[in-house]
Amino acid sequence: MALTHNLGFPRIGAKRELKFGLESYWKGQSTRDELEALGAHLRERHWGKQAQLDLVPVGDFSFYDQVLDMSFTLGNLPERVRGFQGDALDNYFRVARGRSAQSAEAHAGCCGGVAAGEMTKWFDTNYHYIVPEFAADTTFALDASRLVEQLREAREQGVAAKPVIIGPLTYLWLGKAKDDSNKLDLLARLLPVYARLLDTLADEGAEWVQIDEPVLVTELDADWRHAFNLAYHELKASKVKLLLATYFGTLQENLHLAANLPVAGVHVDAVRARDEVESLLNLLPASKVVSLGVIDGRNIWKTDLAAALDWLEPLHERLGDRLWLAPSCSLLHVPVDLDSEQRLEADVRSWLAFARQKLEELRVLAFALNFGRAAVQAELDANRAAIEARRASPRVHNPAVKAALQQLTAALGQRKSPYAVRATKQAAHLKLPKFPTTTIGSFPQTPDIRQARSQFKAGEIDAATYRAAMKAEIARSVREQEALGLDVLVHGEAERNDMVEYFGEQLDGYAFSQFGWVQSYGSRCVKPPILFGDISRPKAMTVEWSQYAQSLTDKPMKGMLTGPVTILNWSFVRDDQPRATTCWQLALAIREEVLDLEKAGVRVIQIDEAALREGLPLRRAQWQEYLDWAVTSFRITANGVEDETQIHTHMCYSEFNDIIASIADMDADVITIETSRSDMELLDAFDHFNYPNEIGPGVYDIHSPNIPDPQHMVDLMKKAAERIPAERLWVNPDCGLKTRQWNEVIPALTNMVDAARVLRAEV
Ligand code: GLN
Ligand code: ZN
Repeated sequence: MALTHNLGFPRIGAKRELKFGLESYWKGQSTRDELEALGAHLRERHWGKQAQLDLVPVGDFSFYDQVLDMSFTLGNLPERVRGFQGDALDNYFRVARGRSAQSAEAHAGCCGGVAAGEMTKWFDTNYHYIVPEFAADTTFALDASRLVEQLREAREQGVAAKPVIIGPLTYLWLGKAKDDSNKLDLLARLLPVYARLLDTLADEGAEWVQIDEPVLVTELDADWRHAFNLAYHELKASKVKLLLATYFGTLQENLHLAANLPVAGVHVDAVRARDEVESLLNLLPASKVVSLGVIDGRNIWKTDLAAALDWLEPLHERLGDRLWLAPSCSLLHVPVDLDSEQRLEADVRSWLAFARQKLEELRVLAFALNFGRAAVQAELDANRAAIEARRASPRVHNPAVKAALQQLTAALGQRKSPYAVRATKQAAHLKLPKFPTTTIGSFPQTPDIRQARSQFKAGEIDAATYRAAMKAEIARSVREQEALGLDVLVHGEAERNDMVEYFGEQLDGYAFSQFGWVQSYGSRCVKPPILFGDISRPKAMTVEWSQYAQSLTDKPMKGMLTGPVTILNWSFVRDDQPRATTCWQLALAIREEVLDLEKAGVRVIQIDEAALREGLPLRRAQWQEYLDWAVTSFRITANGVEDETQIHTHMCYSEFNDIIASIADMDADVITIETSRSDMELLDAFDHFNYPNEIGPGVYDIHSPNIPDPQHMVDLMKKAAERIPAERLWVNPDCGLKTRQWNEVIPALTNMVDAARVLRAEV
């Protein structure tokens, strides 16, 4: 009998109950008991929805983050929060969120101000974890209470519990040594704690423990590979059976290692690494369980069950009871329940599966394997109908788009003249001063703006009233920018809810869920739009707004667009064609918008690629392929314009060392980036590369409400001028201002414009 299990269930709740519970607790509007009760309630509900599985994950629930949970379980708390007198859960939130000095006043004598733990992306997902902190003298001490309590809870509810923990190597790999010591040296101290944890779980009745080691799908050097062997040989003595879980990619050179570690079973991502399964089976000792992650845990499409069975049936024949079935990874990365959706069009809806539906697919697969396809014929027929309908749908396949893609040539991505020629023409045309000032696009999204938008969506005001309200906001931001004396203005993006959704809503090929939320970090969720079909642009998307804004001023007005790579990376995208193809379609659609803006007289156009870097594959060997199509997409979008039209791009991060050649290859006339917090050192990458075009290194951090000091900004720009010739520098903030208030924005930009004046006189 093939057995079914799950690696993790979304914890946030189908209606984001956990988010609201956490935020109410943090504001002091509910008690800790209420929050704990909510946690227990969600766990119970989620276990209930997984009851049909043979093994159900326990310990995947978290009040903030599973990596931070592990740090507490292992007793690895940052020094600054040790010895805290208050409640343990509050201390946990202190590490997760920090506590500012301001609120510390109210907490004088108890907790004091404390810095939040650093947050970073969980592999190639949009989930962010709290980075474990290490030093040479880090020690560990087991606190198994969370897992033990949840196991008991599960047992009382009759759940077939399989505790889930992060493995020792992945835990170390995810962390950061604050003193440049070698984190691997901590392994010897860490392993006894893991050994005790496993025994504790065994004593609590666990037969299997899922131990997650996703680092096995990344490039590991010899030390780390050796450490894997060492660690698992030491843990071999434990009383539980270990299921070593890998996911998000292929094992490649780690395949042999993973197959031979002394564990009772191995889980592999059979969506992204299906081609490796055969080799794994050949390497794997005949005693071991093989868990195949056959349902995509990273996307929202229905599985083609017949195709999955075609592949699985011979494997089942061969493996018998040793075969387990699961989603490819934890379902943390997909929304909870398609049944919540009331507004999706029937066809698109019939193509989708969220977490609950994916588990139902798993049940059907196992049933078909164990009892024959006929036992679930109705389910298989319904699945086949949906798969075929999607495959044949004219809403998915648009011949005109496919034909346009056939016509793609390198020339489409080529500016008419090289940068130096363009720069001269643009200078003559735009007549900007040295150190020109600009902003990144958005101005504050005020309560009035939000209210107008929600009234419009609810049908309480009509389109004309809504547009008039947005135009008034645009007029206001133009007035403010003129008064500030900025050189290149923006319209302020009042009419945009979100930089991806706004474009998705106007493109054919996109659908939007109501409750398709996925946890990004803590209580924060994102609702990625669903890109289901060939992408086309029925009509201009931004031209009217930009044209209106330009009509209010003699200064150049920047047209403002989101780039194809960012739209792709922040959406759920189709799985029936390569990502590159989808990206090129997006590129062609946004290119039309660029050309329409140009035609409408907009002479500076910014194309944001905030998410370009985060799309990098997990393995470096695959970086170049991604960068090639990503850069090509940007070039197709941007480079059809005349020499006089100035193309800007913006990226809100600053680690460019690895990708600087590709960034230069985008050939934007101006790039604005985040640099203020790094003292301009991040410009070194541009300097060493001899980056040829213009750069606006952000001079102040928009995440902080603090008003930046003019002299500090002057000093930063002087540092920038040591690396980049002054005539190629712009002065701007790190990112858009939508999360700030006008009373912060005005003084901050006043100081920034003053700083630019000083620079013009002094540099
Ligand atoms: N133009 C966008 C804004 O200013 C850019 C946002 C971003 O880079 N994340 O809001
Ligand atoms: Zn940004």
